[in-house]
Amino acid sequence: MRTETYSRSAYSKFIEQVKSSQVQRVTFKPDRIEYCLKPAFGNQQYYTQLDGSIEDLTHLLQSYGVEIAPPENTQTNAETNAGILSLILSLGMLVGAFAWLLKFNNAGGGIGLGMGMGKSNARIYNQGKTGITFADVAGVDEAKQELQEVVDFLTNGEKYRKIGAKIPKGVLLVGPPGTGKTLLAKAVAGEAGVPFLSMSGSEFVELYVGVGASRVRDLFNRAKRQAPCIIFIDELDAIGKTRSGGGPNGGNDEREQTLNQLLTEMDGFNGNEGVIVIAATNRPETLDPALRRPGRFDRQVLVDRPDKIGRIDILKVHVQGVSLGEDVDLKVIAAKSAGFAGADLANLVNEAALMAARNNRQAVLMADFNEAMERVIAGLEKRSRILTPLERQTVAYHEVGHALVGALMPGNSKVSKISIMPRGLGALGYTLQTPETDRFLLLEDELRGQLATLLGGRAAEEIVFGKVSTGASDDIQKATDLAERAVTQYGMSATLGPIAFEKNAAQFLEGGSTRRAISSEVAVEIDRQVKLSIDQAREMALEILRLNRGLLESATQVLLKTEVLEGKILEEILTQVQAPEKLTTWLANG
Ligand code: ADP
Ligand code: MG
Ligand code: ZN
Repeated sequence: MRTETYSRSAYSKFIEQVKSSQVQRVTFKPDRIEYCLKPAFGNQQYYTQLDGSIEDLTHLLQSYGVEIAPPENTQTNAETNAGILSLILSLGMLVGAFAWLLKFNNAGGGIGLGMGMGKSNARIYNQGKTGITFADVAGVDEAKQELQEVVDFLTNGEKYRKIGAKIPKGVLLVGPPGTGKTLLAKAVAGEAGVPFLSMSGSEFVELYVGVGASRVRDLFNRAKRQAPCIIFIDELDAIGKTRSGGGPNGGNDEREQTLNQLLTEMDGFNGNEGVIVIAATNRPETLDPALRRPGRFDRQVLVDRPDKIGRIDILKVHVQGVSLGEDVDLKVIAAKSAGFAGADLANLVNEAALMAARNNRQAVLMADFNEAMERVIAGLEKRSRILTPLERQTVAYHEVGHALVGALMPGNSKVSKISIMPRGLGALGYTLQTPETDRFLLLEDELRGQLATLLGGRAAEEIVFGKVSTGASDDIQKATDLAERAVTQYGMSATLGPIAFEKNAAQFLEGGSTRRAISSEVAVEIDRQVKLSIDQAREMALEILRLNRGLLESATQVLLKTEVLEGKILEEILTQVQAPEKLTTWLANG
């Protein structure tokens, strides 16, 4: 289980952060308010004490689109989803959070809002009122196709019943956060024009034993009355974790009871009644296998991050209603945003629009998108943060080092921008690499090229100052990971050969060891090979920078003056980089 750390924050600071759109999600706890910043602000977690009226606060949160988490059991650590999640707040939930707070503040004073304890507080959208259709979801065509079938079950159920076909009961949407799982579920309801009963896994898990289970029962009873309809259980992992078989703390019993009830309910009806259960999770590996048995969630639909074409389509969806300047090219934006999920792209468009508004522009320009991209990637610009002159110099040499080495490397991410303006937390300066295409496969030489590029920053520091700063630690981590993957997964080492020592786990699956059982000699050899490829890459980076020492110097001086290097000026610098003789052979053979 993850341990989460919250730092204390003043209430006034919290309000300020809400108003500057930094806050992603707020959770009302019995004794405090916990909140979490958006990924662009480092996902940091804080807690604070309510100082003012809860109604004013909830209004404020709503107007800034802050997600309000339902009161949760301390046992569940609901995933804080990356990206913007515009959660639709039903009144019921608000009242719930409110009652929750009061209940504890009054220490049993009892205000009797008359919430039946076991009643599911599901959000219900009637007759396709989710207002969302497949047209709102882009870049996940395969998932849409599979779900189209579910729409057909719901709308033409008779056709299937007549022929005696069994309609599936449960569909599990699996994929990284922010890829559109919730959106897809709503779209299914919207397309089929059926009611959509939605609850999040964490809402089932209560402090009181039995409450979760009775909520499940209530939810299914309601659904049967409204059939045909969809039950949507978000964050299924919050209730669906593998049953432990009796942990030390009784708290698990509660979750297991809830899970058992869910299994019972799913077994207790047949799909022909017109209820289809859709659930979503980004941690499928933690789910109890019982959930996937036939007649339960036996269909799985993968909702993955979009490729470039998909990103263009998603951007198209989100720029509807946004006035765009003529220079805006969604293709270019999509090319720069490899790895973004749909929610990140939605966030990007919104940030760009905010930027344009802040600058009193009528339309959003490409420059706004570029700025927004940096925000989303690296966090808020913080010009105010002061570096000592030496620190600034170190950062500048470091970043130029990456760029110069990168300029000679094949295929991979060309450096398109270097900046030494401190941004957000963490990275002091950064180099922005623009992958030309989405790469799932790296060729051997590209891999070496990336390693050398990663080590270029540190190499520059070594050459100029004769020592390295702590700023390079992230690069080293990345380089080590890459080298290790090269050896263990891609079979790229002369001595070990093409044996995969790692089982290829889907990227978003966390936890669990993926390494195959290996002998200690092989482990030693792996370490040796990893070290060898890193040493070689480091040597190459050093050699390149020594050869281009003059350019390293002049480019750094420019960067120190301008703080940012990009476009023509950067290109001109990079075309001057000279390649050492050994480069070609090293790239080819290591
Ligand atoms: P998930 O449930 O997978 O974490 P959500 O469905 O909650 O992701 O996505 C959050 C928001 O991000 C959506 O409301 C939508 O604005 C945007 N979004 C995510 N994926 C897509 C997509 N494939 N197409 C269009 N918008 C998307
Ligand atoms: Mg979701
Ligand atoms: Zn670096």
